[in-house]
Amino acid sequence: MKARTFPGGIHPPGGKQLTEKKPIERATPPDRIVIPLSQHIGAPCKAVVKVGDLVKMGQKVGEAQGFVSVPVHSSVSGKVVAIGPFRHPMGNVQPAITIENDGKDDAAPPLAPLDPSTADPKSLIKRICELGVVGMGGATFPTHVKLSPPEEKPIDTVILNGTECEPYLTADHRMMLESPSRIIKGLEVVSRILGAKRAIIGIEGNKPDAIELMRKSVNGAGDIEVIELLVKYPQGGEKQLIKALTDREVPPPPGLPMDVGIVVQNTGTASAIADAIFDGKPLIERVTTVTGSGISEPKNLLVRIGTMASDLIAQCGGYKGDLGKLILGGPMMGIAQSTAEVPVCKGTSGILILTKQDSLMREPDPCIRCGRCVEVCPMNLRPYQMAVLIENERLNDAEAESVLACTECGCCSYTCPASRWLVHLFKSAKAQIMANRRKKKA
Ligand code: SF4
Ligand code: SF4
Repeated sequence: MKARTFPGGIHPPGGKQLTEKKPIERATPPDRIVIPLSQHIGAPCKAVVKVGDLVKMGQKVGEAQGFVSVPVHSSVSGKVVAIGPFRHPMGNVQPAITIENDGKDDAAPPLAPLDPSTADPKSLIKRICELGVVGMGGATFPTHVKLSPPEEKPIDTVILNGTECEPYLTADHRMMLESPSRIIKGLEVVSRILGAKRAIIGIEGNKPDAIELMRKSVNGAGDIEVIELLVKYPQGGEKQLIKALTDREVPPPPGLPMDVGIVVQNTGTASAIADAIFDGKPLIERVTTVTGSGISEPKNLLVRIGTMASDLIAQCGGYKGDLGKLILGGPMMGIAQSTAEVPVCKGTSGILILTKQDSLMREPDPCIRCGRCVEVCPMNLRPYQMAVLIENERLNDAEAESVLACTECGCCSYTCPASRWLVHLFKSAKAQIMANRRKKKA
């Protein structure tokens, strides 16, 4: 059967060969961790510890503030030595809790396991929130919010996103190979909470071993299908995934997958959900791919949240060649960092290190109206037109051109022969429009 896909998109070089065959290794816990109070989309947490406190591994150190927020937990046992501003992977400075690791891994007692076949959905959702689960594909949207659609929006299908379409990253791939039943258990919890009759696991065709193993692993669970998708970026974007797998179209913003009866979860998130429900374990570690042409030994590492990127780079043999760029996330949607002294957060799927030669950037030229950006835009936008409007400070017109629908996938910038900084313009315009809206509301 022909692999399914969506209109638009690009085919960047994969880079996955560096780590796709490397089993997940447990990273050595650092002497010190830094837990940002905001590791999710929504209201930041409030610290519930103070400097000098002794904390256990898994203890809550930051309390959620409001519905769209989740708590954060310590990934080591030790002493709180600082609470204050620290560099964040988003590229800014945010409040964070620094804990000195005592090396004992003295764990807080886990919550009692829940049986999803008998527990009521509300208590399952409460548990997922309580243990700090967020979307781990990079979006970091609080999972309990996604699992609480309003009654008038029933969900009939859950999609598990196993595409990992960002070049270089292989954390989800390795998790599907090494803990398929854990992921499937998490998916079953999600289906049970939402009352969905159908579950689909979508995996790109460049992971034939994962497709085969997941098919074997779901054997017997008649309501779960594993579907192969064409290798194309951004196949893992929610809207593109939904279109490819179900032919349903999510309405433009503020439309959401729930408007077409679908909820999408990432493979790592499904695993974290299983940990929370079956083991009462908070989200304090994640698999992160450390890779690129500028690192000596690329690896997939199981990392304590709050570990510095610099610690992991050292555990991968250090830099190789001239350091050109350090990115948290993948090359398309990740965020370039000015220092490696930045902590791994719940959404850090990868640390990409590129040599100078591999990260050269051309100066932008004027647009030649070739239309390539329009052809590849998976959201059916006119990037060249939006860019001109933003450059001329016509934000209202850019909004009318649907700049808010831009998912910042980077396909337009990647393909532009004039090296225009398109996605950069769209990101700042979106931030400006949202700030203006907040100001107006206030
Ligand atoms: S970054 Fe935005 S405008 Fe550019 S291709 Fe992606 S969705 Fe379209
Ligand atoms: S791809 Fe670049 S040069 Fe071509 S139309 Fe779009 S912005 Fe202009």
